[in-house]
Amino acid sequence: NKQVVLRDYVTGVPNESDLVITSTTVDLRVPARSMTVLVKNLYLSCDPYMRNRMRKPNPWSSATAQSFIPGKCISGFGVSKVIDSGNPDYREGDLLWGAVGWEEYSVITPIPNLHFKILHTDVPLSYYTGILGMPGMTAYAGFYEVCSPKKGETVFVSAASGAVGQLVGQFAKMMGCYVVGSAGSKEKVDLLKNKLGFDDAFNYKEEKDLTVALKRCFPQGIDIYFENVGGKMLDAVILNMRPHGRIAACGMISQYNLENPEGVYNLSLITYKRIRIEGFTVFDYFEKYSEFLEFVVPYMREGKITYVEDVADGLESAPAALVGLFHGKNVGKQLVAVSRD
Ligand code: NDP
Repeated sequence: NKQVVLRDYVTGVPNESDLVITSTTVDLRVPARSMTVLVKNLYLSCDPYMRNRMRKPNPWSSATAQSFIPGKCISGFGVSKVIDSGNPDYREGDLLWGAVGWEEYSVITPIPNLHFKILHTDVPLSYYTGILGMPGMTAYAGFYEVCSPKKGETVFVSAASGAVGQLVGQFAKMMGCYVVGSAGSKEKVDLLKNKLGFDDAFNYKEEKDLTVALKRCFPQGIDIYFENVGGKMLDAVILNMRPHGRIAACGMISQYNLENPEGVYNLSLITYKRIRIEGFTVFDYFEKYSEFLEFVVPYMREGKITYVEDVADGLESAPAALVGLFHGKNVGKQLVAVSRD
């Protein structure tokens, strides 16, 4: 059973060598009535929050983002097939997605709202790491619940071509908003404008002044900012927000590798502009997962929503795929195909 193991706690930008591939044995049976399930992992999801789990535990490590243990297999979200079950709710051959080890086979005890049986199998199974999994649910909850969007509003999304951002942009377009995204390469900007239906997009790495870039895209200002990156972008956005604007603080990836996070200098403007900034985590919304599926699956089937994936092949490619997120190497949702059957 090949596994991805954390070598030691990480400071600064993570390297591929912080994660090593090792091998152990696995029993291909689980005890009857143990409530456990043996699964074969098909796809693993590379997610930015996993960087926070590579840190030494600190008082802010939450139950959902507990630090990985050096020398042990790391874990994350994945799509898996049941091989053997001691749990009456799961049978051999069932498919599920949820928290598993980064390994070929895992023994899990399924937990409601952390493991979900896969019922729609007429779509690519890998989608359960993205549009139909945790990032999809994040985009849905973050946009519809936190942003309070209205038709005709202006929406800015950072890290817009990624797992979450590409969906937020499409949801906002479906609602009749004007949507602009930022991303870190020309290829990603083209994707946003030509495939994902954004009204406009810019490469933040090529803009001398982000405040000017945002003013150019939003001469009348921004009503909604879907925040994925933080730092300088957040500062520039606050200057360009309209009164009563909303900021959904989904994540701040530009800060995850810093030992001393950057300051946000324009924060005092939120008072005068009556801006609402609200952080959220997807874990608070998983009880709405079936509502989300009912919403998103028909749009997907009708081709009204598209989803771009970046698939790395084989467990050996997992370390590079995961750390690649922090260099913007992924184009779309980054995942690892461990096994396709
Ligand atoms: P992505 O698929 O967007 O991948 C990460 C992207 O972030 C990279 O491709 C890169 O794109 C960009 N990036 C990396 N480093 C920086 C940097 N220093 N400055 C600016 N951009 C950077 O990831 P996700 O869509 O999965 O996640 C997006 C955000 O949502 C993250 O902040 C994540 O933590 C958060 N999140 C929050 C959840 C919640 O429950 N609140 C749940 C899931 C995700 P580029 O080339 O454009 O720079």
